[in-house]
Amino acid sequence: MDRHDWFGWERVEAPRATRAQLSLVHAAAHVDTIEALSAGGGGAIDLDTSAVAGTYEAALRAAGGAVALVDALLGARTACGVSALRPPGHHAEAARAMGFCFFNNVAVAAAHARATFGVERVLVLDWDVHHGNGTDAIFHADPSVLCCSIHEWPLYPGTGPAHDVGSGAGEGFTVNLPVPAGSGDAVHGSLVEHVVAPLIRGWGPQLVLVSAGFDAHRADPLAGCRLTEAGFAGMTGSLRRACAEVDAPLGLVLEGGYAVEALAASMAALVPVLGAVEPPGPTELEVHPLAVEANERLGRWWSA
Ligand SMILES: [Zn+2]
Repeated sequence: MDRHDWFGWERVEAPRATRAQLSLVHAAAHVDTIEALSAGGGGAIDLDTSAVAGTYEAALRAAGGAVALVDALLGARTACGVSALRPPGHHAEAARAMGFCFFNNVAVAAAHARATFGVERVLVLDWDVHHGNGTDAIFHADPSVLCCSIHEWPLYPGTGPAHDVGSGAGEGFTVNLPVPAGSGDAVHGSLVEHVVAPLIRGWGPQLVLVSAGFDAHRADPLAGCRLTEAGFAGMTGSLRRACAEVDAPLGLVLEGGYAVEALAASMAALVPVLGAVEPPGPTELEVHPLAVEANERLGRWWSA
């Protein structure tokens, strides 16, 4: 991003999320636990997830950055933005840290959009290669947040089957799109263009947030998907077009991505698409069989 002079974007230091903002999603005892663990120098939470002395501060900034992004999108009426912070958030549940995640940044941001701006419809697309179990659990019974997730299956954390469509009032508002290892630009691109973008056009969210992990990149060591930089840019273009049609701002919140050069290159490929004054023109993307299958499943809840 530095090499590209940040594409001329304004850069803002992430503020700390407040206790009140975190409490929209997280139990107070969970926040206390992370704070105390960090204050004591850190320690292991599970096999993947350890806190160090700086974790609490970093996690507050990561959640606060996502909240500030929403303020920019809904308060200052900016069309698009990125919160590029770690630690990631989408595995964190209301009262549980896991999978490198402490606070669920995108969930706090979505809840903040509702609480502060009275937004009634938020769509979250999670394209991290792992299922966003925390975001899914937090909004599972909630019809105001439509959670779509494209994730490799089977893979950590083992949740997110296609037949799970949410519960209670939130039935139909969870859209799981599991894909096999080896899936690449064609599969992911088609699922975004032919499944998620029609949902945006049909449902008309007032805000679209992306849990933007880059671990589905072909160079990533933690998973088996095969996306390229162009694939990430293509998915961004599909979202930009759909969001422009329903006048919804679009914000990306960084999640995973463990091949750092690939993450950087993907970000550099998608930011110009995200920030383009005019959304890119439609692409002739073949409808992948997985997209056909997903739309047949969704037909029960959504008329395309
Ligand atoms: Zn991931």
